[in-house]
Amino acid sequence: MDDTALLHTYNRFPIVFEKGEGVRLYDDTGKEYLDFFSGIGVNALGYGYPKYTERLSEQITKLLHISNYFYTKPLISAAKRFTKASGMDRVFFTNSGAEAIEGAIKLARKYAHEQKDADCNEIIAFNHSFHGRSTGAVSVTGTKAYRQPYGPLLTDVKFADYNDIDSVRKLVNDRTCAIILETIQGEGGIHTADKEFLSEIRNICSANNIVMILDEVQCGMGRSGRMFAYQGYGIMPDVIAAAKGIGSGVPVGAFACREKFASLRPGDHGSTYGGNPLVTAAVDVCFQIFEEDGILDNVSEVGEYLYQKLDELNYDCIISHRGLGLMQGLEFDCEVKDILSKALDRGLVLISAGSNVIRFLPPLIISYSDVDEMISILKEILDELV
Ligand SMILES: *Cc1c(COP(=O)(O)O)cnc(C)c1O
Repeated sequence: MDDTALLHTYNRFPIVFEKGEGVRLYDDTGKEYLDFFSGIGVNALGYGYPKYTERLSEQITKLLHISNYFYTKPLISAAKRFTKASGMDRVFFTNSGAEAIEGAIKLARKYAHEQKDADCNEIIAFNHSFHGRSTGAVSVTGTKAYRQPYGPLLTDVKFADYNDIDSVRKLVNDRTCAIILETIQGEGGIHTADKEFLSEIRNICSANNIVMILDEVQCGMGRSGRMFAYQGYGIMPDVIAAAKGIGSGVPVGAFACREKFASLRPGDHGSTYGGNPLVTAAVDVCFQIFEEDGILDNVSEVGEYLYQKLDELNYDCIISHRGLGLMQGLEFDCEVKDILSKALDRGLVLISAGSNVIRFLPPLIISYSDVDEMISILKEILDELV
């Protein structure tokens, strides 16, 4: 049915997943898997986290959707927690990461048009970035294959090299309205921004009244060991985009800004589902669980252990090891898809970033022994390869 009824945009692995429990997944034959990809970094709390499931079940029985014409308590509570945790002043909830990026771009352009002039359109983005698949988001995504077939896209987007501040400086001019980047590049192969690079971007943006947008869709919500990755850099962006982990499984994203940049006013932006009571109940309870259950401490501690264990792997085919917290990557001198298939055979779910990087994005609740188990499976596979 996949071949005939679905638009063939994914080459799926031949597995039918049926349920999850903790950090384990089960397919339709009952086979158990250890999850080290959490649905591309979405299932931050793993599967069946009791407080989460209870809160969502309760919300389902009350109200799923009402639109943004009215208030709901989960929306307000989620907004309070989101702004408090991020240091932003205002938030708009979306249904995905791409939509969060769309909102951030619209907000930045409107801000620049009002503060400077209508010609101030240029956006500086980065090579090897990933910001989503909608037309605006692919316009700022630095991978040609994602952009090229859909032109003309948003005009006035220029690409600089990540962690190369001179390449950014060369592109800045009177018409620059925003600089957009991931604090840690995910799809591009797990590249963390250098401290100096990020603080120089902050300086450039402040000096020229350019909107600094950080895409925290993948690296946010605790994955780096901080609630948001920029909090480990001692800087504050002007606008952020989030999604993936913020609802731990329900489709929800958000863009948020500091008061000064809140250019969007009644009628300027909207979304039918955006921030509906089901998804904002999820966001609300996720932030609550992070606070009450010490999730960030677990990420830091187990993340460090994972770093050490991956560093200890001694194979010629491994070129480098990058990342932090529970967002790490191992770069190989060859394609990794065979390794991923072999891992699935042995009951371990992993994903790649590009063709030659294995990406480790486990649920944020994994334990030391889960890391040990993953490492021993990975070693078995790599031993077979050499
Ligand atoms: C996944 C991702 C997006 C897009 O999110 P969707 O929910 O798939 O639209 C945007 N930015 C980054 C950094 C991502 O990892």
